[in-house]
Amino acid sequence: MTEKTLSIIKPDGVSRGLIGDVISRFEKNDIRIIAMKMVHLSIEQARGFYAVHSKRPFFDSLTQFMSSGPVVAMILEGDNVIEKNRTLMGATNFKDAAEGTIRRDFATDIEKNIVHGSDAPETAAVEISFFFNELEVCNK
Ligand code: ATP
Ligand code: MG
Repeated sequence: MTEKTLSIIKPDGVSRGLIGDVISRFEKNDIRIIAMKMVHLSIEQARGFYAVHSKRPFFDSLTQFMSSGPVVAMILEGDNVIEKNRTLMGATNFKDAAEGTIRRDFATDIEKNIVHGSDAPETAAVEISFFFNELEVCNK
């Protein structure tokens, strides 16, 4: 089934020059990019985006990190792309991530783990509309 998901290259991925590497992994895996932008989130915007984690002990640190520099937000489209993107990303903690995944190859820390990916159709829809309006999506 064709789906859409939100991908973010986090500030560590952008500052370490990994944008191209992450995008080429998507393109090599039959994932289409149908919207893309670079943005520097404010702390309030980062807190809004990660509101589901507001009660977690790592929330302040995570939202400071996510607003520490520019990120690249993308809408990915493809067959089963929500799960496919999560597989390409690897486990949250890079130490548990499978070989050949983005996080295993590049992450340095459980927090600074290079990429974000939506985890379900409902969260994908909310997260896509957080970053993009309809005019910014190349659906044709
Ligand atoms: P993401 O939502 O960013 O795609 P995820 O779904 O793999 O990652 P979540 O449980 O949603 O993981 O956590 C969101 C983000 O919070 C993680 O990607 C990571 O940056 C950070 N994080 C998660 N757990 C911890 C932790 N125990 N300590 C510090 N940071 C954490
Ligand atoms: Mg998550």
